[in-house]
Amino acid sequence: MGAVKLVLLGAPGAGKGTLAKMIQSEYRVPHISTGDMLREAVKEGTQLGKEASQYMNEGKLVPDDIVIGILRGNMKDCEKGFILDGFPRTKNQAEALQTILDEGGVSPDAVINFEAPPEVLIQRLSGRRQCLECGAIYHIKNMPPRKSGICDVCGGELYQRDDDRREVVEVRLKAYEEETAELIDYYRSRKLLESVDAGKDPEATFARVKHAIDG
Ligand code: ADP
Ligand code: ZN
Repeated sequence: MGAVKLVLLGAPGAGKGTLAKMIQSEYRVPHISTGDMLREAVKEGTQLGKEASQYMNEGKLVPDDIVIGILRGNMKDCEKGFILDGFPRTKNQAEALQTILDEGGVSPDAVINFEAPPEVLIQRLSGRRQCLECGAIYHIKNMPPRKSGICDVCGGELYQRDDDRREVVEVRLKAYEEETAELIDYYRSRKLLESVDAGKDPEATFARVKHAIDG
């Protein structure tokens, strides 16, 4: 089997980032997260970061042309495999992705749709913490670090994302319903969709994902 090529779909809080990291370490292909790339740009204070941050802080989607530009720059080696996390999020982005992959002569193995009930999504987002240094993800109740506020992996400081505040979480979930949820049908009709129950612990979800990948 060639390098794994996956698109991860699912609402904020479904666990795409956590699972993407698990898939990356098992299958040795890059984890490409538009959210992580945008947060990096914000942290560095680039022009791109300045434009994106206002949308992100409000829980809104960053405009397609900006995000598509970033993604394109990171898909140059797509034939070597990828785990796309947080892209595409609109029909427009899905079409752009198709074009980028066609140019690279590759197609995704599957689009994995992570399903979890709304109350689980909200509970996860409100307790989520992330490492400032390496990006590792924790949860104050479900997946606490050994030492409060400190990353197990690298000793970095953990922080709460600005957009994990309750008011912003609601806007993000609404943006998902309005703009992203239709991609489920888009990929189902292309026979790429694999839905996975993501409402339990990450290991259980990972077992399902491996089954979807390896058959
Ligand atoms: P989550 O999936 O938990 O919302 P992400 O880290 O994927 O978290 O995204 C955080 C924010 O970054 C989004 O709310 C949005 O503002 C922006 N963003 C990330 N990816 C995209 C995308 N593909 N299109 C538009 N905006 C995006
Ligand atoms: Zn860390």
